[in-house]
Amino acid sequence: MTDQKTGRTAERIAGLIARLRVPPGAKVRLPGRYDPGYTAQLAGKRDGAELLQRGGLLTEYQARLAAQDSHGVLVVLQGLDAAGKDGTIRHVMSGVNPQGVHVHSFKVPSAEELDHDYLWRFVQRLPGRGEIAIFNRSHYEEVLVVRVHPEHLEHQKLPAAAKAGDIWKRRYRAITDWERHLSDNGFHIVKLFLNLSKEEQRKRLLKRIERPEKNWKFSPADLRERQSWDAYQTAYSEMLSNTSTDWAPWYVIPADHKWFARLAAAAVIANALIEINPQFPTVDQSARRELLSAKATLESEAPADRGRTGTRPVSAHG
Ligand code: AMP
Ligand code: MG
Repeated sequence: MTDQKTGRTAERIAGLIARLRVPPGAKVRLPGRYDPGYTAQLAGKRDGAELLQRGGLLTEYQARLAAQDSHGVLVVLQGLDAAGKDGTIRHVMSGVNPQGVHVHSFKVPSAEELDHDYLWRFVQRLPGRGEIAIFNRSHYEEVLVVRVHPEHLEHQKLPAAAKAGDIWKRRYRAITDWERHLSDNGFHIVKLFLNLSKEEQRKRLLKRIERPEKNWKFSPADLRERQSWDAYQTAYSEMLSNTSTDWAPWYVIPADHKWFARLAAAAVIANALIEINPQFPTVDQSARRELLSAKATLESEAPADRGRTGTRPVSAHG
């Protein structure tokens, strides 16, 4: 790709995602200016596929990220049931090298996990340098489901002092401090909230019941969680207001149209990679001389009956 073309693409991507970013310090009350049905006046899937060069852009940058081996990318994916987290991961990751990407889905914490501080299990799943890790649900559940359903907090076996006062403000601070530390050390954090409307969630849950091949996705727990819709909207609003930072801003991804959600998510991830701008390492003069000498050695070892190009000579036996 020419530099000029890359520059134009980078500009279009930056333009598309600018209005999805939550400005650090902004007070968010969902839905507010974040319309779940927004599609940026794009006509449809095709417009988007073209913007990201049918995924080729992510593929190339991922290869360069791995080769440069100094930065890592952590993608944090949050959203209510049926918001499209799994589908977004599938879509964004099609075409990238599986060796460089890890996906982790976080569920209700295990007994061992509850025996540690609440960030412990997330620390173990962080990406290494050169890698991309995707958290399907994340440390943010610690200020979402745990806030909406306080019984989860009871299971965390916290000493009284750790629960005193404004525990949520303390968690916001701990989380943003931790993210700053990661960012200072070369790990880029991309935070995506798939913002679904209540009506679209109703339709998607109904589909999971009506279509036999989707039945496995439906859980009666989803319906119970839906009853806490308003509490979740409040918890998400508070989270966005308190944890969107200069070093790790939140992006509110309009999720009512799957094609747009997938495009926007891929665009935010692409934008992060473009900002890192990793490069394939180039070899210096002396390494270059070594390569040339290795080449000469390998060529000199070619069997005598083969031509200089290494192609098989035509044999009488065909
Ligand atoms: P799913 O994403 O449908 O596989 O469901 C995972 C479940 O784990 C959801 O109901 C989450 O609310 C729950 N979960 C994830 N993280 C936590 C956490 N830190 N504490 C309690 N429940 C959690
Ligand atoms: Mg679920």
